[in-house]
Amino acid sequence: MSDKVVTRFAPSPTGFLHIGGARTALFNWLYARHTGGAMLLRIEDTDRERSTEAATAAILDGLRWLGLTWEGEPVSQFERAPRHREVAEELVRMGKAYYCYATPEELNEMREKARAEGRPPRYDGRWRDRDASEAPAGVKPAIRIKAPTEGETVVRDSVQGEVRFPNKDLDDFIILRSDGNPTYMHAVVVDDHDMGVTHIIRGDDHLTNAARQTVIYNAMGWNVPQMAHIPLIHGADGAKLSKRHGALGVEAYRAMGYLPEALLNYLARLGWSHGDDEVMSVEDMIRWFDIVDVNKGASRFDFQKLEALNGLY
Ligand code: GLU
Repeated sequence: MSDKVVTRFAPSPTGFLHIGGARTALFNWLYARHTGGAMLLRIEDTDRERSTEAATAAILDGLRWLGLTWEGEPVSQFERAPRHREVAEELVRMGKAYYCYATPEELNEMREKARAEGRPPRYDGRWRDRDASEAPAGVKPAIRIKAPTEGETVVRDSVQGEVRFPNKDLDDFIILRSDGNPTYMHAVVVDDHDMGVTHIIRGDDHLTNAARQTVIYNAMGWNVPQMAHIPLIHGADGAKLSKRHGALGVEAYRAMGYLPEALLNYLARLGWSHGDDEVMSVEDMIRWFDIVDVNKGASRFDFQKLEALNGLY
């Protein structure tokens, strides 16, 4: 097997390319370039209600304008649904997942019970060891993975360090819904594996997903890619970044006449720093960037700094 680094940027096409997404793409691109690897692009368009063609076009456009090139054709996650189903069925055959015929009423009962007891809702595993011959007529099953119940799942993360999740907190979560559609959790694992991704660099809002995704990798006997969960960007007031903080979509900066180099310089410094050079060329960024140097603390968006930086070009 070659040890070429393969990263990916995996946006959900529900809006323009925003500052946070552009920074994630930049770190993936820089790391791939730094190591002589490749960045792939996957459009996570499984949510048919919220995904639009216009958003996909805008994201591709924004990446091109920034010069963040990807290798090959963008992959549509939605089009890979048959493969996601195939892997879910394979897990059932291997005894690592099972059909769950719990009705919405039963699931609701579990939720109510958890609420009354003041604990987070968990599926109680009632179909884990039951035979499908007991299946009630007319109920379409979901597929759930058998998550480990003891010990812990460890995520070794280049930015966050070793993060431990007690397995008693992971229930047998759904990988294929009763309507035959994969969950995000499952689709991402199957796609990353099939695309040969070696490094997953994404926002730390996905860190808890990494534990569940590790369960799927382990069940399939697949290698877990190296993870790097980068801190989300916050506004000056500490709240999660939004338009209110003056953070606009990439296309808005472009329309205002910003230069891609200025935006790249600014984005690179959101969570990563190298020396105190006033501006870095893209070549310097490629030379100096390493994912292990990304800071663990949240980065703050500062519109004035971005403006000042743009003034230097
Ligand atoms: N599509 C997800 C998002 O836009 C990213 C998923 C991932 O990187 O694993 O937040």
